Amino acid sequence: MKAEPSTMDIDPEEFRRLGRMAIDWISDYLAEIDGYPVLSRVRPGEIRQQLGDHPPEDEEGLDQILADFQKTIIPGITHWNHPAFFAYFPITGSGAGILGELFSAALNVNGMLWRTSPAATELEETVLAWLREMLGLPSSLWGIIYDSASMSTFHALAAARQIAGGSTMRTAGIQNRDRPLRLYTSEQAHSSVQKAALALGLGLDNVQLIPVDRHYRMGVSELRTAVQRDRDGGFQPMAVVATIGTTSTTSIDPVPEIGAFCRDSGIWLHVDAAYGGSAAVVPEMRWVLDGCELADSIVVNPHKWLFTPIDISVLYTNNPRVLKETFSLEAHYLQTSEGETGTNYMDYGLSLGRRFRALKLWFVLRYFGRRGLANRLRKHMEWARQLAERIDSHPNFERLAPVPFSTVCFRLNPKSRSLPPALLDDLNERLIGTINASGQCYLSHTRLEGRFVLRMAIGNLRTQFHHIDQAWETIQREARRLLTEVAS
Ligand SMILES: *Cc1c(COP(=O)(O)O)cnc(C)c1O
Repeated sequence: MKAEPSTMDIDPEEFRRLGRMAIDWISDYLAEIDGYPVLSRVRPGEIRQQLGDHPPEDEEGLDQILADFQKTIIPGITHWNHPAFFAYFPITGSGAGILGELFSAALNVNGMLWRTSPAATELEETVLAWLREMLGLPSSLWGIIYDSASMSTFHALAAARQIAGGSTMRTAGIQNRDRPLRLYTSEQAHSSVQKAALALGLGLDNVQLIPVDRHYRMGVSELRTAVQRDRDGGFQPMAVVATIGTTSTTSIDPVPEIGAFCRDSGIWLHVDAAYGGSAAVVPEMRWVLDGCELADSIVVNPHKWLFTPIDISVLYTNNPRVLKETFSLEAHYLQTSEGETGTNYMDYGLSLGRRFRALKLWFVLRYFGRRGLANRLRKHMEWARQLAERIDSHPNFERLAPVPFSTVCFRLNPKSRSLPPALLDDLNERLIGTINASGQCYLSHTRLEGRFVLRMAIGNLRTQFHHIDQAWETIQREARRLLTEVAS
């Protein structure tokens, strides 16, 4: 019997027809992605204006919705799946990952408790153990998936706060403490550390930004000094956040030394390896995670450099018990019956409902295998080194940081002319503007010691060397044009 159309969802045969259309569209999109401008060219408000001010009163056909998706939404997309996307840290929706995400949407599981989908919980436990092994991390680490590294770091620091705060933390919170809690991270750390301090009620004044050395790595003696000064000054050191692959230059903090210091001082060590951690799937890059055996928690983002569609971030910790102590409440409608021993992941974080994110990671890890992932990441790092060599040997460019992974920081700075700093900044800002407006590639920038610096990060699965080559050609061409302008 045919379902009443006004109360039920789409007819299965209609879904099949539209689903085929959608997969065809996606296949074409991925096949022809090179032809799109990387950075969307719309002006602010342009998309919004086409969307209409009022919600539909009556049903609309999916054919029409799909047509509008193509006509209105696609022009406003910046193509993160584009092989010439070199801004921030590139990400990839791989074919396997897209299918994993599709099935996850179809199942629409809420994995809050073990029993609300045993496979969701057990697959999460399994893929996180696999990933841990692929990265060469200690088997004592327990893992959990959150949406983003910012959330992983927030949860890790909440656990650190729980330990530092002691027995009254759950009841009194951080009110009326006589010794304010303090957090330490480097000047080059990601802003998510400060956001966590905001959300945890620590206050930004209690985040101590430790100076870095000339390669942008946290200074260990500066860290020791800051901690000692705070102890003497009536503060309580709560946690140190070290970074493996900082956001601007991908520098690697000396985690073995920092870890030894934290262990001796009884301070929680959280390692932010959101981007750089993935490199450890490459055997000769395992060393980047050296010292992580001393960490209390580590974050790695498969949605960054492991070809899994956004969002999926993994937090590993030696101390899941304290994470649970921080976040679990006993609501009677959520209590499970005796004898059920499965993990209830909702007890280990802020959110109750949990997407089935492990599924896409399972698809990706199996589709590529450790070796397949390693081969691809190795290429990205090789290409970054080749780009670095070209920059180093070019008379008009200068490189500003080492390249331990696949990100290169550089700027236009002709060796034959001594241009004033303000003009150099201005030139580089104009340079990136014209490069990105070309639509051929997309770079982002950062500031290092006040200088405006271009950043080219390689990490998209579909990137080939010719995309880097072309980007480098575009950069040189636009630079020549700008220099002629300045000279005349
Ligand atoms: C990308 C990144 C983050 C933030 O990641 P989200 O998942 O977007 O929250 C934090 N730290 C480092 C080092 C990063 O590279």
